[in-house]
Amino acid sequence: MKMIKKWKGIPRLEVRWNPSIDDSKCSGCGKCVAFCSHKVYRFDEREKRSRVALPFECTVGCSSCMGVCEKGAISFPHISTLTDLLKTRNPNWPKPA
Ligand code: SF4
Ligand code: SF4
Repeated sequence: MKMIKKWKGIPRLEVRWNPSIDDSKCSGCGKCVAFCSHKVYRFDEREKRSRVALPFECTVGCSSCMGVCEKGAISFPHISTLTDLLKTRNPNWPKPA
């Protein structure tokens, strides 16, 4: 049976948290691909650009790979995206339901 990944009780597929790459800024250095141990990124050899291949493997709330991109090409949603989601799902948040 396949396990459904969750984040704070919410199915991971419903949590919008993953990097985006601005192709116009990306130099194709590949540092993000090498940095992410979760294999969120994949290098597109044809286009010579990194791609976000496995967005739901990204650790929710983390944005550490932004720091390795010298071109400022990586962005994440604002952290309020997550707090808003938690408030929607659990009106008593941050207290336990
Ligand atoms: S680290 Fe930045 S510039 Fe380098 S491949 Fe990744 S997104 Fe592109
Ligand atoms: S925040 Fe972490 S898990 Fe998510 S893409 Fe960046 S390095 Fe990978």
